[in-house]
Amino acid sequence: MPKIAVVGSLNLDLVVPVARHPLPGETVLGGDLAEHPGGKGANQAVAAARLGAAVAMLGRVGADEAGARMRGALEREGVDVTRVEPVDGVPTGRALIAVDELTGENSIIVSPGANNALHPEHCATEGSLLRDATVTLLQHEIPPETVAAAARLAGGTVLLNPAPARELTVDLLHMVDILVPNRAELAALVGHPLPDLHAVADAARQLRGPAAVVVTLGADGALLCEDGAVLLVPPHPVRPLDTTAAGDAFCGALAAGLVEGRELHEAVRRANVAAALSTTLAGAQPSLPTREELARELG
Ligand code: ATP
Repeated sequence: MPKIAVVGSLNLDLVVPVARHPLPGETVLGGDLAEHPGGKGANQAVAAARLGAAVAMLGRVGADEAGARMRGALEREGVDVTRVEPVDGVPTGRALIAVDELTGENSIIVSPGANNALHPEHCATEGSLLRDATVTLLQHEIPPETVAAAARLAGGTVLLNPAPARELTVDLLHMVDILVPNRAELAALVGHPLPDLHAVADAARQLRGPAAVVVTLGADGALLCEDGAVLLVPPHPVRPLDTTAAGDAFCGALAAGLVEGRELHEAVRRANVAAALSTTLAGAQPSLPTREELARELG
């Protein structure tokens, strides 16, 4: 029986290295194209599965070669993909990613394609999966009404990574148990900039609805706010090479820690280390650590 239900996106990442990003109206020549399985939902599913969790994914791909590849990649990681169905007439989601060769900075266009064909009624059809899952893991790369339907049907802990940033209804916020934004997403939610960690802590305290807010802080680690109490988790020391999907590594590891029965603060500490490890390797899914790698790092 799957312990984690991921209701989310699958995208094929198309990555081109560039000497610099093009300006509007401009063309630049880039390096060789690389294709990798991605999408926040799929990345988080793989992150949790690599750490030993039983994971099932609910999602949609196109009835095309990219969709078959995406399903295959998840299946090889041990994720239950029986609810990842191909949809006729729409392409599999794609992310067009330009990476600055010098700074590593990304600019990304996501074309959701089949991810937008995941509708609330699909959550209702898979009601028993959502009712029985210990953790339901959600992100913002599928339609908002589908996220809300999944949260409503979930029987266990609802963990929402509100990425990419978009408005959250009060209704949805009250169905979420643990909200995991990064600093920019939290700033968008509260509607003002967060110049320092005090401002981040205040904003996390201010959010009404979720029992806990876990803010990922990039090179500054993470912050947990629960019942008004704030815990700052310092960054795990690493030499980062590529931070792509660090947030996904964090969310997947957090869910995996919770289904192992760990306290939230302990699961956050482990997720902070797993996410740091993911920054030391290139790519999204290839960089996600295994259970053994995490255990070695934790000593
Ligand atoms: P992305 O969009 O690249 O997936 P994100 O903005 O969602 O990232 P971040 O807050 O940048 O997420 O990073 C997620 C987590 O990864 C952090 O909370 C931290 O645990 C870890 N992390 C990221 N960068 C570093 C770093 N330079 N050193 C140590 N840990 C890091």
